[in-house]
Amino acid sequence: MKKLLPLLFVTLPFFLIAQLKSPSEFLGYELGSQFTRHHQVVDYYQYLADAEPKRMKLLEYGKTNERRPLILAFISTEQNMQNLEQIREEHLKSTKGEGSPDKAIVWLSYNVHGNESVSTEASMQTIYDLLTSKSNYLENTVVIMDPCINPDGRDRYVNWYNQYKNTPFNVDPNSKEHHEGWWNGRSNHYMFDLNRDWAWLTQIESQQRLKQFNKWLPHVHVDFHEQGVNSPYYFAPAAEPFHEVITDFQREFQVTIGKNHAKYFDANGWFYFTKEVFDLLYPSYGDTYPIYNGGIGMTYEQGGGGRGGLGILTDIGDTLTLKDRIAHHHTTGLSTVEVASGNVERLNDEFKKFYQNKNYKYKNYVLNGDTDKLEKLTDLLDKHEIEYGYGSNTTYKGFRYNTSKSGSLRGSNNSLIVSTDQPKATLVKVLFEPNAKLSDSVTYDITAWSLPYAYGLDALATESNIQKTTAPQKTEEFGIGKSDSYAYIGDWNSIKDAQFLAALLNENIRVRYSKKPFKINGTDYDRGSLIVTKSDNKYIDGFTKILDAASKKFHKKLTPVNTGFVDSGKDFGSGYVGVIKNLKIAALSGNPTSTLRFGEIWHFFEQQLNYPISVLDESYFNRVDLTEYDVLILPDGRGYRSFLNEMTTNKIAEWVRGGGKLIAMGNSIGMLSKQKGFNIKEKEQKKDTTINMDAFDSTEREYIKSAITGAIFKANVDNTNPLAYGYNDTYFTLKLGNSAYNYLDGGSAVYLSKGANKPVSGFAGSEAQKRIAESLIFGTQRMGRGQVIYMVDNPLFRGFWENGKLFFANALFMVN
Ligand SMILES: [Zn+2]
Repeated sequence: MKKLLPLLFVTLPFFLIAQLKSPSEFLGYELGSQFTRHHQVVDYYQYLADAEPKRMKLLEYGKTNERRPLILAFISTEQNMQNLEQIREEHLKSTKGEGSPDKAIVWLSYNVHGNESVSTEASMQTIYDLLTSKSNYLENTVVIMDPCINPDGRDRYVNWYNQYKNTPFNVDPNSKEHHEGWWNGRSNHYMFDLNRDWAWLTQIESQQRLKQFNKWLPHVHVDFHEQGVNSPYYFAPAAEPFHEVITDFQREFQVTIGKNHAKYFDANGWFYFTKEVFDLLYPSYGDTYPIYNGGIGMTYEQGGGGRGGLGILTDIGDTLTLKDRIAHHHTTGLSTVEVASGNVERLNDEFKKFYQNKNYKYKNYVLNGDTDKLEKLTDLLDKHEIEYGYGSNTTYKGFRYNTSKSGSLRGSNNSLIVSTDQPKATLVKVLFEPNAKLSDSVTYDITAWSLPYAYGLDALATESNIQKTTAPQKTEEFGIGKSDSYAYIGDWNSIKDAQFLAALLNENIRVRYSKKPFKINGTDYDRGSLIVTKSDNKYIDGFTKILDAASKKFHKKLTPVNTGFVDSGKDFGSGYVGVIKNLKIAALSGNPTSTLRFGEIWHFFEQQLNYPISVLDESYFNRVDLTEYDVLILPDGRGYRSFLNEMTTNKIAEWVRGGGKLIAMGNSIGMLSKQKGFNIKEKEQKKDTTINMDAFDSTEREYIKSAITGAIFKANVDNTNPLAYGYNDTYFTLKLGNSAYNYLDGGSAVYLSKGANKPVSGFAGSEAQKRIAESLIFGTQRMGRGQVIYMVDNPLFRGFWENGKLFFANALFMVN
């Protein structure tokens, strides 16, 4: 026995480690026997950090909309953790071709989709093993773990499941515990899909996470997901198409990792597939975004998801349990760290190579436009740590986005210049280039997103080098200056202007808008310009103070005038100068609508426009007195066939005729087009009568002919229509499908004119192109005393198509 003593000393650390409580021991139930709520997960991570302060650091990097903490765990050896900041700095030097880093950085992200609920459970077992039996992986590796990217969504699912589950759980797929319903846990609080938000950063979870991500730019990033219960497991390598910027090494290393996973899966007799379905193109995913930042980004998909529960019978009669699902995600998590740890040198070399000058074709992107829009774009660039400068009074030559041809653009010191000669060159190329090169047209997501189109900027991509300057001196001063003017005038051409308006309306300030262009004191104003008069607001306490504060807050330039008598156009007292109503707005939610499309509207009102909205669920919609509302929004969705029956449609139409304003989006238009009183009509479709002689195998290719997978089209704008105030005569629209409607008599505000049915960016099948030729995009129809606004395309899609948002604001405030 004595002999053993020295040995005991050597093993003492392991002895201590063995004291660490496993998730099951800590939680008091066997992991996988029930779902762990987010606060318990946080408690376990906190417990580990307290127990292992030298090998683990816990960071709360933010809070969700529902005030749940967002956390990151950093783990490595004691020595590495002591030097954590130094390791990080050395790693980041690689982006400048410097430094000699010798550690791998692996970032594991769990549960971005809330109801793909196994991920967070698996994370607990994974971190426990990394701190105990697999701690040897950490010798040369720092592992960063986000146990739950989307706590609001996950708790929504977990709480729901706990309420509806059978006891003991029932594997019958028909039982309620496997049918989550409309308000499901996949998305975040605002029903946004956080795995479509990495590039656009519209959601607070993404914004806060990306700050941390940019501090680390990991070599390897894994996004843990779940797919349908009947699918087995998917891991890397990914499927085609790959974006052309993805390097050979990035492709190759996915195979290395995949093969290591396969070794474990084979040994256990588990099923899996690779190289299918999950492609690498759209830049806003948890796999592509890290790739475009030099890492190996991967999606892992376990079978299960929202239907899985604690156990479910699959189609082939097997039972898939939560414990199985944990085992698989746990295995790939550890295997990923193992591979990274075994390839530290290579990962570091290749990461450095990735950041070397890429010599991309376009060296610079030049952007002109309204300062509000440029500011919106620089806000986004700042979040991505993309550098930019400004231009000068010179003419730039290159590819013109507006014409899709080579041409020139006159620069100024307000022209924004974004160069590919910078560490974030690849991300710049991916986000800015006019047309992403696809290796295949069959993709999981949209094929176009080019920022100059999304932000409505006049842009040019040039192969030349450009001398950049720093930001121009801002001479503009905001506020109202003199406070006793007759009126204050502001322009109307950006979503910022709409935010400014909403802020005034929220304070009950009366605002007018001009329906005709006018000129006063030598300055021209367009349709939609805002006019705030003193006499309209004489009963508002502190009117000028409120106006002054709003002008400063929204950087809104206001021009004071001492008369309502215009040089040309209509005077302020004219019938052509309308009063903007403070509106009561409602949006439909529930089964007829898509959660995502509803969520975009909800988020738009509460987090962008900051204007109140009532949510009317379909379950009691027919009992609601619509006359209480000025505006009703029908979000896009697939369930309108039963909802928009004759009775409901009549109720809505009657309300419109009495003065209501209906905003119909996406598929709701299709149902309305079949009903009396609605002028919108679907374009007649010529049936393809040719017999399909292709092989059975090619059905996917056949389908693609009639598909538009998110492509950009150049549309015409009638900016005399109030729906299009503030726009010029063209608009680049993001089309997400092939629905097509005829022009509206006198109400086609935005439409594809003859010959405009070819996308300027992205993919549209040949049949789809025929179908959308000469079709409506946004239009208005007067019905009785009310209005119907049709939005065939979705200007609020994923919250990132900045230039479309003013159409939505116009629909609310300008169309009357
Ligand atoms: Zn997912």
